[in-house]
Amino acid sequence: MTVVSDYLHVGSGEYSVEVLKPISDVDKLVDQALKGDIPNEVNNFFSQEMYLMNHYEGKTVIPGSTIKGMVRTRLELAIPGSCYIVDSRGSNYSPRYKSIFKPEHKKSDRFDPEDYPNVCPVCNLLGNSGLASRVNFSDFVSSDKTDVIKISNVGYEVAKKGARFSGKVVYNSLSKEELGMLFYGFGIRVQNGRVLSKVQLLGRFKYEDKRFGRVTFSIGAVNSSDVISSIQAFQTKYRPRDFKEDW
Ligand SMILES: [Zn+2]
Repeated sequence: MTVVSDYLHVGSGEYSVEVLKPISDVDKLVDQALKGDIPNEVNNFFSQEMYLMNHYEGKTVIPGSTIKGMVRTRLELAIPGSCYIVDSRGSNYSPRYKSIFKPEHKKSDRFDPEDYPNVCPVCNLLGNSGLASRVNFSDFVSSDKTDVIKISNVGYEVAKKGARFSGKVVYNSLSKEELGMLFYGFGIRVQNGRVLSKVQLLGRFKYEDKRFGRVTFSIGAVNSSDVISSIQAFQTKYRPRDFKEDW
């Protein structure tokens, strides 16, 4: 995965605060605070909070579950008649989200049990609460240096333009159309007989700030004629919708 916007922030849910100057009498400060008398100058001891990304052994990490969620959202919105698990409970209801993905179109799609009497194609591939996933996503890891930028005076750790993350997607006995479905969820397309990587949105501020959240994916381990034929097989069978995410 390559970051093609200026920044990418996928939060770890943690933030750090730095101590800016030594505190000479901690006991006194704590005492005061416990009595409800928090001195004004206490803020001067600490930096603004900074929202971090995940790290492991010095590398920056995007959880596999985040990548899987991205793929699943795209497939649920793209495939007519599939169920609609991710975004129906999500909070992605910004006007930008609506204009890109047109989820109201999705809601009006009649679920046709004739099409999928047992399980919809997305659940069949990626699992649901009662069904194991047939695809596993590793974490995506980068050794490129991150930076910190401020948005409304709050720091965010970001991967920068050109940063590359790599990860593995492990699957088990997929049909050709299902393999194509997986590629499609990563934004891989075929145009004039060639493989193309579409921009996908990921992480914080993707709908609010053009400098954030644009990534593309490329495939390492499958040869391009197999990629092309599987995507074509998927499109022929499922007639997916497409989205232009690069707003
Ligand atoms: Zn489903």
